[in-house]
Amino acid sequence: MIFQDKYEHWLMRYFHLVFFVLISLGANTMDKPIAIVLHGGAGWFANLSDDQQSAIKDKMKEAMDAGYSILASGGASSDAVIASITILEDSPLFNAGKGSVFTSEATQEMDASIMRGDDHAAGAVASVSVVKNPIKLAKHIMENTPHVMFAGEGAEALAKSGGLEIVDPDYFYSQEKFEALQRAQSKQHLKEDKLGTVGAVALDKFGNITAGTSTGGMTNKLPGRVGDSPIIGAGTWADNESCGVSATGHGEFFIRYNVSKEICDRVKYLGKSIRDASDQLISELKAIEADGGVIVLNKKGEAAMSFNTPAMARAYKGPDQELVEIYR
Ligand code: ASP
Repeated sequence: MIFQDKYEHWLMRYFHLVFFVLISLGANTMDKPIAIVLHGGAGWFANLSDDQQSAIKDKMKEAMDAGYSILASGGASSDAVIASITILEDSPLFNAGKGSVFTSEATQEMDASIMRGDDHAAGAVASVSVVKNPIKLAKHIMENTPHVMFAGEGAEALAKSGGLEIVDPDYFYSQEKFEALQRAQSKQHLKEDKLGTVGAVALDKFGNITAGTSTGGMTNKLPGRVGDSPIIGAGTWADNESCGVSATGHGEFFIRYNVSKEICDRVKYLGKSIRDASDQLISELKAIEADGGVIVLNKKGEAAMSFNTPAMARAYKGPDQELVEIYR
């Protein structure tokens, strides 16, 4: 009896405290915004039939919804980014994973990266040809190695030992991308051939931003060429206090101007909004004839989608808005 009294007394004493802690923990995560923004490449998207436009938009929406549902059920932004980008990599509609473009030697070499905004952890992979989902390899590198970036055969060996899916190089072949290579080599490169890199930036209910990017690079690139997409700071950047960015465009410029980090630095150090910072930088790139665009997300769940080309496939789902667009 004495024991029970003591126990009840203890419970009474701390009940309010425990109740208060549980409620405030719940409230703390419940009212935090979640959001995801995606791109499917900046470019011309010219001469696309209505059906082709719908196919691109449907796939963007599928990828957006997959990422968002992970966030809505309390998942991490890194898992949301992987879910969304994997769907885009598995589609031949984009220039990443299955739909990757060809090098000048008619091979395919893929690049990808991911970065977490809470601790600046990052993983990147360059020039892989048999890894089905390069973005998953980037995350594997981030989470399971002391390194940030792997390339070529070493990266593929790591994918194999990590149990990631390996495919025959033929898996990535598509007639459409091969014809784009032939046009490029016969100097009939069409502007509409330049499109399709994919990226996602997500904010989870813990306030963590993750950004990721995946690409086959640029049609007719020299073998071994690496673009901005796997370069942390250029193609991908995430910092919880300023923003997360995934870029698409003419990679050489995006590397030289360190585009993704530069946008977040303008937010952080110059106090600019993500919209102003990204619009400004993307128009500075236009002035030096560098085509491309970015998607940006901050910890309030606000997004900016800036591009200096006629189109950028893009999708956003946030606290009270949803959109999927291709053209301006
Ligand atoms: N940025 C990519 C690269 O240069 C290409 C693209 O975004 O379209 O590899």
